[in-house]
Amino acid sequence: MKTYNGMYIDGRWRSAARQDGADRRAAVIEVVNPASEQVIATVPAGDALDVDAAVRAARAAFRSWYATAPVERAERIAALSAALSAQRERIVQTVTAELGSPRAFTEIVSADLPTRVAGSYAKLLQTYEFAEKVDNSTIHHEAVGVVGAITPWNYPLHQIVAKVVPALAVGCTVVLKPAEDTPLVAQLFAEIVDEVGFPPGVFNLVTGLGPVAGQALAEHPDVDLVSFTGSTAVGKQVALAAAAAVKRVALELGGKSANVILPDADLGRAVTVGIGNVMANSGQTCSAWTRMLVDADRYEEAVELAAAAVANYRPGDPTLPGTRLGPLVNAKQRDRVRGYIAKGIEEGARLVAGGIEPPEGLDRGYFVRPTVFADVTPEMTIAQEEIFGPVLSIMRYETEEQALEIANGTVYGLAGAVWSGDEDKAVAFARRMDTGQVDINGGRFNPLAPFGGYKHSGIGRELGAHGLAEFLHTKSLQF
Ligand code: NAD
Repeated sequence: MKTYNGMYIDGRWRSAARQDGADRRAAVIEVVNPASEQVIATVPAGDALDVDAAVRAARAAFRSWYATAPVERAERIAALSAALSAQRERIVQTVTAELGSPRAFTEIVSADLPTRVAGSYAKLLQTYEFAEKVDNSTIHHEAVGVVGAITPWNYPLHQIVAKVVPALAVGCTVVLKPAEDTPLVAQLFAEIVDEVGFPPGVFNLVTGLGPVAGQALAEHPDVDLVSFTGSTAVGKQVALAAAAAVKRVALELGGKSANVILPDADLGRAVTVGIGNVMANSGQTCSAWTRMLVDADRYEEAVELAAAAVANYRPGDPTLPGTRLGPLVNAKQRDRVRGYIAKGIEEGARLVAGGIEPPEGLDRGYFVRPTVFADVTPEMTIAQEEIFGPVLSIMRYETEEQALEIANGTVYGLAGAVWSGDEDKAVAFARRMDTGQVDINGGRFNPLAPFGGYKHSGIGRELGAHGLAEFLHTKSLQF
């Protein structure tokens, strides 16, 4: 077990403020490997005092960091991307250990993707226009100031990079409060930032509990913008705290996305890709297509295809090369997901695969059986609420109008998919969906395309130029 004693504040590693000068022991957070249930590390549980120290450091660093030329910031960010690439193996081992995501998947989404996103901002900075002319005005796009970033555990490094890097790129300074379950990759990120040599105070890390350190960051009067990714329930609290101090807020929240398979689609491909999308990261993906919508004529065929496809996702040790499904992140999430499976059965959905029993042969780890429900109707709990586990609901529609109504019939609107033999038809359908991203016939993830939600899935966008603009104010000068 490894003990981390420091939080990265003002360019150096500092122990929790509550420990300094007092004989009380500072609180710590235990980090548990969800596959083995072993405590693998502890990190400091920072509180409002640490957040305040970090915000002060970020404020003090802001003017001079913002005064650096964009090309200079671009060079640092390119160096950060290179350093992330150089630390690939440590990143993969760290995330696999604290999150439990299978190694091969971790390599792609937790190491290569953040490296690429950081690189994309280094490149974007070369050409981004921070001023524009409108008639007799020049409009300057200026850094908002000090950013409080609060991130979840499900794609822990990607979510850190998607906030911190564009904020630093435009000249903001940042205080990061990562999720309690995955603070180790955040510690590693801070080490990498330190090694790259950003000026002290430009980036700061405070580990701690959400309702303590997270809340203190959201409320802090000297934070100009809070960028939050996590659950809709906590997002609302963060928005309220931020509103009280009239600060900007960006929210990336939950989802219940629809995978709409139109009658003329390649059913086999749509179902197989759909299952892969839901099972990835053990279903702990905010944009997962957890509702599969199939027309009545091909419904039973789709159910059979889904049952066959899900058999390829056997839960197992995430460090082994062939594993495609790891555990859930913690016991609470596992119990929550099992509770939803029980609810689906109770409300009359047809269990096609999986169930509430623990997977066979795994007597340790927070594993859940990959589960498929058929005959799910729109009013059922499993059709409305975000489960955040390897659970798919297959729903039947009679007409395309009804499919659209079902697709739009939740409070969420983060992502989605449409499949059709006629691409124009798929696009026309996608344009009527109340959601922030739609993949047409399996279109692949684009880290330069804006990502974010309609309705209760959030406010604002991350990634690419739109993600950069989140951290900018406009100022108009008239001539
Ligand atoms: P969570 O909302 O419990 O926690 C997210 C972060 O907020 C953590 O760092 C946590 O410590 C902090 N937090 C908790 N209470 C807080 C408070 N009162 N004030 C300030 N911060 C607080 O979510 P989670 O369990 O970590 O993540 C799962 C949820 O996140 C899912 O609902 C998922 O859909 C959502 N999510 C959304 C996106 C997206 O981009 N839209 C991405 C990933 C996860």
